[in-house]
Amino acid sequence: MPLHRGEDAPKDGSGDRRTLAVNPFYGEANPVAGMAEAPPTHRLPDAPLAPSTAYQLVHDELMLDGNARLNLATFVTTWMEPQAGVLMAECRDKNMIDKDEYPRTAELERRCVAMLADLWHAPDPGAAVGCSTTGSSEACMLAGMALKRRWAHRNADRYPSKDARPNLVMGVNVQVCWDKFCEFWEVEARQVPMEGDRFHLDPQAAAELCDENTIGVVGVLGSTFDGSYEPIAELCAALDRLRERTGLDVPVHVDGASGAMVAPFLDEDLVWDFRLPRVASINTSGHKYGLVYPGVGWALWRSPAELPEELVFRVNYLGGDMPTFALNFSRPGAQVVAQYYTFLRLGREGYRAVQQTARDVARGLADRIGAMGDFRLLTRGDELPVFAFTTAPDVTAYDVFDVSRRLRERGWLVPAYTFPANREDLSVLRVVCRNGFSADLAELLVEDLDRLLPELRRQPYALTHDKDAATGFHH
Ligand SMILES: *Cc1c(COP(=O)(O)O)cnc(C)c1O
Repeated sequence: MPLHRGEDAPKDGSGDRRTLAVNPFYGEANPVAGMAEAPPTHRLPDAPLAPSTAYQLVHDELMLDGNARLNLATFVTTWMEPQAGVLMAECRDKNMIDKDEYPRTAELERRCVAMLADLWHAPDPGAAVGCSTTGSSEACMLAGMALKRRWAHRNADRYPSKDARPNLVMGVNVQVCWDKFCEFWEVEARQVPMEGDRFHLDPQAAAELCDENTIGVVGVLGSTFDGSYEPIAELCAALDRLRERTGLDVPVHVDGASGAMVAPFLDEDLVWDFRLPRVASINTSGHKYGLVYPGVGWALWRSPAELPEELVFRVNYLGGDMPTFALNFSRPGAQVVAQYYTFLRLGREGYRAVQQTARDVARGLADRIGAMGDFRLLTRGDELPVFAFTTAPDVTAYDVFDVSRRLRERGWLVPAYTFPANREDLSVLRVVCRNGFSADLAELLVEDLDRLLPELRRQPYALTHDKDAATGFHH
């Protein structure tokens, strides 16, 4: 999202830079109602508008936004049942922080935490602690802060001193929230680069980056770059060996923004969660494969021991004395209610069916694209229902940025982007299959791609010079 600058009014005092054109037929747009002039767009209008006129202006402006269901860039939920929408509308005035005023909403949050603790095999689900957040980014900030604080406790004799600068080990493929965490909380980011056809963290390389100032290692389930699961159990095993060798005992946080709501239903034998004693905390995005509209996320700790007490605040000025651990104070309650609704509505079987369908669509689509001959698949949609592909080595007439740009003409948003170190040479396209992206829609995408390819092959060379404009990489 761009940072917005208010464009300043002209210095010569010539007044309004730009006004909106209003069709006089639009409601109250007449001089008597004070609408002789259309309202300005970059400063507050002097007078109110009629609600119908204001609505029409905003509504019209938004018509040029994309069609969410054709957006294959985002992981975030773009479809929910009407009943979920009704519940959310009923709760839109509820503030999550007012736990004393809305005790039932607070109770639904607690039940969601308990359900996730059970789903992720917390050794004692009743003892696991957790909270809702605005998304995984906030959840990762909280989990990272807990890691940092625990490390500070372990190093109370040395910290803060110059030679004790905390670091966090992760793959270079982590989502941008981890770069933010390290920047905001002054932690050194130690990133394992990609190597050859390995596009995520290598357990041994991660263990080798650890030292006495390592607050933890982040494992991602799964990677935003290509949808692959990082090997969490192998990572824990490598850190077990590190402990035997050196005595360093480094905890693991699992960033399960997407995968923590996929693997429990589709990959039950995969051991990645609290079954691994080294996993201290896990986050997920309720608004990704948790199947809720944005924004809700979840952060859970194995037990109270993993969440330093001084990070939990108690406020009494809303009535009651509720412990809170969050960056935000006020936050909408509707998303948490919608999460509980979805848990109740789908249950394990329902989630399994929805995620299996997304995976089937992803695999089927990856196979079709792989069979076209022009592309090389990096992943096949068999971990997250997400796959990345690039052009085959003999394709020189066009590149992935051309494909992204041409698909956009048909309404599809398929982002193209370059990989990070050490594979900056590699540019890929990525397709995220979500609930609501049906096999029928996937077929239409294949048909559009089939139609485009002959034209692309006839190009003299790759034509998309403004690479930034072609991409729409959403983490
Ligand atoms: C999406 C994502 C995030 C950030 O999650 P938000 O819910 O968008 O804040 C963090 N990590 C991973 C792996 C992600 O895919």
